[in-house]
Amino acid sequence: MRGNVFLRYVLPALIALPIGFLMLYPQLLRCMRIADTNGYQALPGLPNVYVNQSATTHQQRQFRRHVLTARDRIRRFWGDRRGQATLIYCPKQADYEQYCAGGEGAGCSIGTPWGDAYLILGPDGNNADVIAHELCHDELFARLGWWRVKRQIPQWFNEGLALMVDYRFSSPLTWEQPDSSLQYQLPRNTLNPMPHALHSMLKLADLETTRDFFGGDYRHTMLAYQTSAEEVTRWLALVGRSGVPALTNAIAEGKPFADTYQRLEREKRSAQKRNGKRNL
Ligand SMILES: [Zn+2]
Repeated sequence: MRGNVFLRYVLPALIALPIGFLMLYPQLLRCMRIADTNGYQALPGLPNVYVNQSATTHQQRQFRRHVLTARDRIRRFWGDRRGQATLIYCPKQADYEQYCAGGEGAGCSIGTPWGDAYLILGPDGNNADVIAHELCHDELFARLGWWRVKRQIPQWFNEGLALMVDYRFSSPLTWEQPDSSLQYQLPRNTLNPMPHALHSMLKLADLETTRDFFGGDYRHTMLAYQTSAEEVTRWLALVGRSGVPALTNAIAEGKPFADTYQRLEREKRSAQKRNGKRNL
């Protein structure tokens, strides 16, 4: 009987689910076939990095340099690098759209429930900040997995964290220097100016899902990025760089995001108070 249930229901479901997933996302199917796709070549010496043949020698050299810079930044930010994503660089918009649905932005990341990840860089993606941003998403994905990122991580945190290694939107001073009380008082004007002067912030509670974050117009998305960057800058300046793996390790062990995020902040404040008293 049990064997019948397996053959009649469970096995077809196990086969149908991934196939359905791939039919829904043709871009993903193309990413999965990149190693055997005409017109793409692996960058020698960099495993899992593919470049469209339309890239000039200069673009290829630049891309290699930017990937190495971005990977090094991720290693320093997280303490080590666990992401295994395949990188695909398309200098032409038409090719980019084949791999990144909608073809918007400078880069995009795709993670699958079974653990594969792809980062696609478009015409504006040959840039260390863009690559580090996408690699940071991949790092979170590698540490927590698809399901936990979807269920546990609010989009404002996922994006805000990626903006900490993306110096178009944040200052390296937030974490590149050792922890100190000075860091917490980081003046606002040390943040790089956003492309648009935006003043009114959104509420974090309204930026929980990808739809909340990206579902509005361009101005809303920019405002969402700015709100997230400011919040994660504030948190990171307080808890320090070690707070990032501490948070993700706790979530990987099953602790809820909001409690852990606040607990790390509380603990740091109490430690600062104790040290302040001792120095009096
Ligand atoms: Zn992002």
